[in-house]
Amino acid sequence: MLNIDEAQRLVLSTATVLRPAPSPSGQSLGQVLAEDVASDMDMPPFDKSLVDGFAVRSADLVGGCGKLAIAGEVVAGDAPWGPDRTVASGTAVRIMTGAAIPSGADAVVMVERTQVESAAGAVQGSDRAVWSQARDGGSVAIRDDRFKPGQNIMRQGSEMTSGQVVLRAGTRLRAAEIGLLAAVGFGTAPVFPRADVSIISTGNEIVEADVRPGPGQIRNSNGSTLAAMVTEAGGAARYLGIARDTASDLERLVRAGLESDILLLSGGVSAGELDLVPDVLKGLGAREIFHKVSLKPGKPIWFGARERPAPGDGSSDRGSRQTLIFGLPGNPVSVVVCFELFVKPAMRRLMGFAEPLPRHVSAALAEDRSWRSDRPTYCPASLEAGDNGWQVRLVQWKGSPDLLALADSNGFAILPEGDHQKRRGEHVRVLRTEF
Ligand code: AMP
Ligand code: MG
Repeated sequence: MLNIDEAQRLVLSTATVLRPAPSPSGQSLGQVLAEDVASDMDMPPFDKSLVDGFAVRSADLVGGCGKLAIAGEVVAGDAPWGPDRTVASGTAVRIMTGAAIPSGADAVVMVERTQVESAAGAVQGSDRAVWSQARDGGSVAIRDDRFKPGQNIMRQGSEMTSGQVVLRAGTRLRAAEIGLLAAVGFGTAPVFPRADVSIISTGNEIVEADVRPGPGQIRNSNGSTLAAMVTEAGGAARYLGIARDTASDLERLVRAGLESDILLLSGGVSAGELDLVPDVLKGLGAREIFHKVSLKPGKPIWFGARERPAPGDGSSDRGSRQTLIFGLPGNPVSVVVCFELFVKPAMRRLMGFAEPLPRHVSAALAEDRSWRSDRPTYCPASLEAGDNGWQVRLVQWKGSPDLLALADSNGFAILPEGDHQKRRGEHVRVLRTEF
């Protein structure tokens, strides 16, 4: 039987990267940039004020103090002053945060260190009232003992310059990068597309969540879990419904699912009489790449691929002409383990991630633990950052169907095969499922 590494290598060598396509930046959260992105302008595009206050010529102040005639006002959004206009010696211009520094000025004094007066002398009242009387013919007294020429001005191009590469190809877009794309004029960004993933639940006993199960029936949790994991991994999930354990019903849904980049089925891949999924897939032209991996839970997993005909309708080609197919064992914990180990890496490869495999940390066991197993076991676990690094508590787990244990966990502790006894504080590897 294949081990996990061998199976992951087969998945990654089968999966091919999708063709990059422009996508609205605001909808590209979690996607990977396919090209370097350069700014189309200096940032800031003009010298701008970092505070509300008065733009001054520093030569007019002595030790940060002076009294200057008010010569106007600039607010954010006003066009920068042209060459015909300048702040004359002995004057100051009221300025708002984000406004362009008027030419002639070389520093801004924040409003808290100033006091305005009307031509007739001191005025009382609200800031607005005082200003409305002082703006024409008034003056401003400045007292700023820490004054320095150039203060409170962000110079044009000091953040980035026109043509500068600000994001590299291969970057995964988070909120900060999405904002940066907007700032440099990329309302649309060149990204690898989201993997389109179809999901089918199988089983005669499965009913949807809003149905009260009859005798022998259980609710379909895998459909929801898989759709959520696909979305979380940056893919586009397409839930196709429940197939009964008959070849014809499976074929009907599988045919629809074969139009996606990836098709996920849960259930029907073990050795039972009604485990028809592998045969149905092969009957529809899928090539089996592996069946069964030395792993617990999740051993019966089936993986294959099927070529997809070129789109006849002239719709855009995604750069990949195959559907990757995962037949996941039906048990809810197996579904999650197999998704993390095999499906998510495949999705990430399609979506241009440089490092598609899951991340692990080494964590100290919170309790003594002994186990014996013929396969590496992925045990739902709760990982916490402690003073001395990661600490992991294995969640009480009653076997593969135990969804409650999963809900209580944020990763899987990997218990290697063989006979082991570990003391509290000894380390195990943990696959993180939440960041
Ligand atoms: P199977 O792999 O089809 O033999 O299913 C293994 C176990 O998982 C059985 O107990 C099934 O009832 C259960 N199971 C299969 N599909 C689902 C599903 N969609 N949601 C919840 N449990 C399931
Ligand atoms: Mg079944």
